[in-house]
Amino acid sequence: MKLAGKIALVTGGSRGIGRAVVHALAKEGAKVAFTYNSNEEAANGLVKELELDQREAVAFKADAANGERAVEVVNAVVEKWGKIDILVNNAGIIRDNLLVRMGEDEWMDVINTNLNSIFHYCKAAVTHMMSARYGRVVNISSVAGRYGNPGQTNYAATKGGIDGFSRCLAYEMGKRNITVNSIAPGFIATDMTEAIRNAAGKEIKKQIAVRRLGEPEDIANAALFLASDEASYITGQILTVDGGLTLGSGM
Ligand code: NAP
Repeated sequence: MKLAGKIALVTGGSRGIGRAVVHALAKEGAKVAFTYNSNEEAANGLVKELELDQREAVAFKADAANGERAVEVVNAVVEKWGKIDILVNNAGIIRDNLLVRMGEDEWMDVINTNLNSIFHYCKAAVTHMMSARYGRVVNISSVAGRYGNPGQTNYAATKGGIDGFSRCLAYEMGKRNITVNSIAPGFIATDMTEAIRNAAGKEIKKQIAVRRLGEPEDIANAALFLASDEASYITGQILTVDGGLTLGSGM
């Protein structure tokens, strides 16, 4: 049990990558709180699943774009379990469109959900971590932040922003025994990528060195490592987990 006694919070933990992260942390002994936006059934189902497995978990309905709610959620976790050791900022959305057609709502929704949430959750959580002189922050970005994709100016701006944010916060927090890293996933089989998988799944696989799409567990394994004590000397890093998608491909 690598995370026995640890308390974790995962944003957007009810489905996809976040759900796999919740499972991975809980399996290693952490008590895990997670947020979701609208799908209550998925969130409650996950809590039940974990409880059946003798794990402690709690779900909070909290739109990641809402800064006040972020503070409430972090404080509720600390009130319930006494501290917060691990924060995984995973909640994210896409609203793809070419820039010339992109509405300001599509721009702002993505900025607020994917990037502003990182500011709010990190600020609220590191305040507690600083007092405890311990913390592990893992922010989920994307290879799109580095390499770009047509139709994703909004999304890529947030993901590149997350990587820069992680590096800066790592500098600020290092001396307090708090590490901050990003994981940049490639193409992972989740609801978010269902449409493009259906349209171009075979073509995409050919561009991936290991010739398969990523599974949510591939990202969860990396998050578990960065959240563990084994990664105490790793901070300010962007860990690409893409099966070789971006290897020398011009992407
Ligand atoms: P997903 O399958 O669409 O799942 C998204 C999760 O986030 C759900 O639990 C959802 O909860 C929650 N969520 C969405 N909007 C939210 C909001 N405003 N507030 C709180 N929670 C919210 O997505 P995913 O593919 O697992 O992606 C997870 C993260 O990985 C995202 O940051 C994404 O950008 C990043 N990523 C994904 C890929 C990929 O290929 N899938 C690649 C690179 C990076 P509800 O069901 O309640 O809405």
